Amino acid sequence: MSAIVAIVGRPNVGKSTLFNRMIKRRDAIVDETSGVTRDRHYGKSDWNGREFSLIDTGGYVVGSDDIFEKEIDKQVELAIDEADAIIFVVDVATGVTGMDEEVAQLLRQVEKPIFLTVNKVDNALREADAVEFYSLGLGDYYTISSINGSGTGELLDAVVESLPEEVEQEDTELPRFAVVGRPNAGKSSFINALLGEERYIVTDIAGTTRDSVDTKYNRFGFEFNLVDTAGIRRKAKVKEDLEFYTVMRSVRAIEHSDVCLLVLDATRGFEGQDLNIFWLAERNKKGVVILVNKWDLVEKETNTVKQFEAYIKKQIEPFTDVPVIFISALTKQRIFKAIETAVDVYANKTKRISTSKLNDVMLPIIEHTPPPAVKGKYIKIKFCTQLPTPIPQFAFFANLPQYVKDPYRRFIENKLRSNFNFNGVPIQIYFRKK
Ligand code: GDP
Ligand code: GDP
Repeated sequence: MSAIVAIVGRPNVGKSTLFNRMIKRRDAIVDETSGVTRDRHYGKSDWNGREFSLIDTGGYVVGSDDIFEKEIDKQVELAIDEADAIIFVVDVATGVTGMDEEVAQLLRQVEKPIFLTVNKVDNALREADAVEFYSLGLGDYYTISSINGSGTGELLDAVVESLPEEVEQEDTELPRFAVVGRPNAGKSSFINALLGEERYIVTDIAGTTRDSVDTKYNRFGFEFNLVDTAGIRRKAKVKEDLEFYTVMRSVRAIEHSDVCLLVLDATRGFEGQDLNIFWLAERNKKGVVILVNKWDLVEKETNTVKQFEAYIKKQIEPFTDVPVIFISALTKQRIFKAIETAVDVYANKTKRISTSKLNDVMLPIIEHTPPPAVKGKYIKIKFCTQLPTPIPQFAFFANLPQYVKDPYRRFIENKLRSNFNFNGVPIQIYFRKK
């Protein structure tokens, strides 16, 4: 799991410009070509070989021009809670503002690494103007131009240097489940329904990072670790149903998990926030089970389940091979089924298909439906294998791998899914030169 870096600051200082410069190009491309609405304020970044998650906190505020100061304060507080390091962006063109001072005051009390970053320093003249930001009482600052990239290297060097050592997760062999979802979806109720009283706790395992604690459970004959349940219980109830809170609170638990149990409120449907959490899990290559909670409140007719499921699947395209379970945390309906399914998804995620089995199944399919020829050139796939990675990845070896297009990749993915069970698990397919 990677560390989390949050970008904070008032509107228009250049947070999203900096964010876009810092996230991996690969991430951006995926967003553009997939055609699905994804969270554009969360991404993976990588510098000097260190990968980390980057969150642009300002990105979550709609109509950010007239944002209330109170709102920014809350975002900063949450960033302070959840992130490993904070980049505080200010704008040399406007100089120090009252809002900057307010944010600085919150940040001055924090033990975490804070990087005061004076943006829009596009030329040497502005370099001199930056000195006024010493008045924020945060010490030295970095000067950058997010637009032309100058200074961002030094900033990133320092940020990466400050991040906690990446600790390999203890290999417990037990699946790690994270219960995620927006406020009031019923996460705590689900966990209570699942665990009942504390006596089911077997042991406490100190988490690999501060704030993240795995607790080992044995319920219904299954052993598993629940990620950060303490966090769910401990943290004060968030009243506001804001995208920002949901994402910020989910990121660490998702990154720390093997399988995410995404809890929805059936009476509210499946909306932007739910989708954002879904894509967070998908992008982090986690298993997913969708739990449609409060099903007791829904008036049911013959096709209600089917329709609801189809409605969800439509929105999570193209990754639709995901189990959807209709539950009620209140009546405990299908709680067992939820856990059983999560255990199955974990098994799918860790499964190894032997090379001979894979080739026996896939090569005849490929022979029957080969990739379409490009410019008169025939693409021949001779061999495939599952890579020895912790998540399912497959390599298909071909004479002209560069000519294999996305629709064919999807065709291969669908065939893998229909022949081997990868329900709930993102899989990756590579075409390589034989
Ligand atoms: P945010 O609201 O903090 O996310 O700010 P944006 O990233 O949307 O940037 C606000 C404005 O400042 C946009 O017009 C950007 O093009 C501009 N901007 C961002 N970074 C720089 C920079 O380094 N130099 C200059 N001159 N303008 C910048
Ligand atoms: P969290 O914020 O996601 O942890 O949500 P809570 O577990 O605190 O639940 C929010 C509200 O929804 C509470 O009032 C619960 O009693 C209610 N609730 C949760 N699950 C169910 C359910 O399955 N059926 C009904 N009718 N209410 C539920």
